[in-house]
Amino acid sequence: MALTGLDIFKKLPKTNCGECGVPTCMAFAMKLAARQVEITLCPYVSDEAKAELSEASAAPIKKITLGTGDNAFKVGEETVMFRHEKTFVNPGVYGIVIDDSADDATIADKAKKAQAIEFERIEQQLRPRVVGVKSTSGSADKFANAVAKVAENTKLSIVLISDDPAIIKAGLDKVKDNNPLIYAADSNNYQAMADLAKEAGVPLAVKGATVEELADISEKVTAAGVKDIVLAPENADMSEGLKDLVYIRRAALKQKYKPLGFPTITFPADGSADPELEMAMAGVHLMKYGGLIMMNDLDPARVLPLLVLQQNIYTDPQKPMQMSEGIYEIGEPKEDSPVLLTTNFSLTYFIVSGEVESSRVPTWLCVMDVEGLSVLTAWAAGKFVPEKIAAFVNKSGINDKVKHHNMILPGYVSQISGELDDELADWKVTVGPREAGDIPHYLKSWKAS
Ligand code: SF4
Repeated sequence: MALTGLDIFKKLPKTNCGECGVPTCMAFAMKLAARQVEITLCPYVSDEAKAELSEASAAPIKKITLGTGDNAFKVGEETVMFRHEKTFVNPGVYGIVIDDSADDATIADKAKKAQAIEFERIEQQLRPRVVGVKSTSGSADKFANAVAKVAENTKLSIVLISDDPAIIKAGLDKVKDNNPLIYAADSNNYQAMADLAKEAGVPLAVKGATVEELADISEKVTAAGVKDIVLAPENADMSEGLKDLVYIRRAALKQKYKPLGFPTITFPADGSADPELEMAMAGVHLMKYGGLIMMNDLDPARVLPLLVLQQNIYTDPQKPMQMSEGIYEIGEPKEDSPVLLTTNFSLTYFIVSGEVESSRVPTWLCVMDVEGLSVLTAWAAGKFVPEKIAAFVNKSGINDKVKHHNMILPGYVSQISGELDDELADWKVTVGPREAGDIPHYLKSWKAS
């Protein structure tokens, strides 16, 4: 059972030295109980207490790291079933599976394409994180060659996929310093796979057709000394497979069942030639509860919506997604282009900027930081009021970009236009549309006065 802040406090040195970054041992204990810090930050706690507290404060789903350096990422460490309970911690990631039977040029090309996929959205870089190399040739040499080719052409983390420990070893020898994932131990090969994972110090996936089989192999490889495990439920039926993913999560969180307390790897629509079905299942697996989601196809047009889904699910629902404050150029605005004002709630930004783009009228969009609130909410909270807007406009630099000094205020706050006009002595404030959908028509007929 998880320890409370008070339980943890009793095991701390109680000197309130502050070296852990918080002023008191009690404050540190509360943060540790909430899994916001790690016990290693306290240099004075005894080894015995450290071991006990590390165990007690660990998430019920173990955190597993794949890859190294800037390309490393974590999966697992989740504590809740649903996003509205608490923020999910480490996003599920997408990857592509490359067949080792393909020729060198095809393997290199697929690896390069996976590496090149990257989108920026709400000031975050979104991208696939993994490349799996799958042995279908049955040749250790061919597998090792394919793994080396992938490693040469991408910095993404690698999953080595084969049931044959000898083939895995050939690939592992090429990339063991990159902290790859071995896929996978099963009821026949688990001892040999566990030996490989232990020797190289890399995580090991375990697979089973049923959750019971999965738990059994997980226990066996744990007993063999492997600590970092990824679970691969392999139910052939898609619907039953989804139930298995939910069952695994529930067993780990609600029953604290340790053999299932690890992140998962899935192959949505594995074997299906239908990329649309694969895409749909990849989205479902991201939501419930895939850690690594390995796909046959990584067409950027299909990956983008999946990455947006990932971004939306793995953001903190208690913190509005927000844009940076500043002046955004839409089209190529000039000194006689309109100037629109709005707030930095990302949804507001995307709706307004989308409508401006569709108007094809180059425009300066001044986005004010109001802690991610929408226009009306920010006004009601006293954050989007004339005095503060004037301070923002004056420091934003928009004065130097236009010669007309006409500011278009969102229609929802028309009531502050007079006061804002007074605050912004050099500007003429006009009231724009209430609804974003009316922006194109408004901009097309806009003229500086
Ligand atoms: Fe207490 Fe340790 Fe933090 Fe010092 S470093 S305040 S002893 S928890």
